[in-house]
Amino acid sequence: MVARFSEILGQERAVDLLRCYISRGTAPHGLLFSGEEGVGKETAARVFLAALLCRAPGEDGACGTCHDCRLFTSSSHPNFLKVVPKEGSKSLQIEKIRTLQEELSLKAFSDRPRVAILAPADRMTPQAANALLKTLEEPPPNTCFILIAHRVAAITPTIVSRCQKVPFFPLPVDMAAEILAGQPDIGENYSSEIIRLACAAAGGSPGRAQSLLPDIENERDLWMAVFTTASAKEIIDLAETFKGEGGDGRFTAPLTLARDLALLSSGVETAIINNDLQEKLLTIAAHPPVGGWDVVFKELLAISRMPPQTQKRLMLEAFFFGMRRKG
Ligand SMILES: [Zn+2]
Repeated sequence: MVARFSEILGQERAVDLLRCYISRGTAPHGLLFSGEEGVGKETAARVFLAALLCRAPGEDGACGTCHDCRLFTSSSHPNFLKVVPKEGSKSLQIEKIRTLQEELSLKAFSDRPRVAILAPADRMTPQAANALLKTLEEPPPNTCFILIAHRVAAITPTIVSRCQKVPFFPLPVDMAAEILAGQPDIGENYSSEIIRLACAAAGGSPGRAQSLLPDIENERDLWMAVFTTASAKEIIDLAETFKGEGGDGRFTAPLTLARDLALLSSGVETAIINNDLQEKLLTIAAHPPVGGWDVVFKELLAISRMPPQTQKRLMLEAFFFGMRRKG
């Protein structure tokens, strides 16, 4: 099945621009899709290119039934080219750009436009970038290149200036969670609370949140133990994992737990984030440490906001053992 523009949520600006090219029947030779990892750039590129190849595209993209749509959905459209790093490499090498140029120099199989996705465009070797620049300066007729990049600053400015920019933005957490929950196997395997936490930790990127899901779930279990039954050794082991970099969103789970405990201990039950743990949290909330759960929340928040070079491991050890002194 071919994806539709209406399935790309939260990126109205980009989608409006792409729809406009389709309704006009022309697209720039070079488009630069930029923005955070995992916010829908690749999906949007596929929807757009499918619509460019389609013989009867509508307001919402490709028709899904014509010969070209069927070829595209079965990944065998001869006019669709995808340029990605060779196996084992993270960068686009010049060989890949040369292969693209050779394919483009041959006569097209179909009268549809020729379309190519290049990703990651911000990880091209200087030689690859030079070769691509030549192609963008003298593009073959009826060809559209989509460059996909997380960091535009890492692309040669002369390449950027040859492309129409299509920016993508991080999504509000609720929308990111809705998108992620709708992905195959996600909604069934993770609670809506874990999905939301992962989206918050990933700064509104459903794609990045997906990769964080197992860690976030694990992290939340560990911190639940810290707030209840963890031994001194388990606590030191957990603090040890905060050595060096703070990690991606590692404080999201513990901060929401501490916040929920502070709310529950003051009798508020309506604004809880970790709803699926409410009963357990109520039991823990009834046994506050010295100073109460709101102090735990504030201390943890302060540690999470410390600059990366701070010795978070030692701060956390002090925090953990202070918290175990029950009032
Ligand atoms: Zn079609």
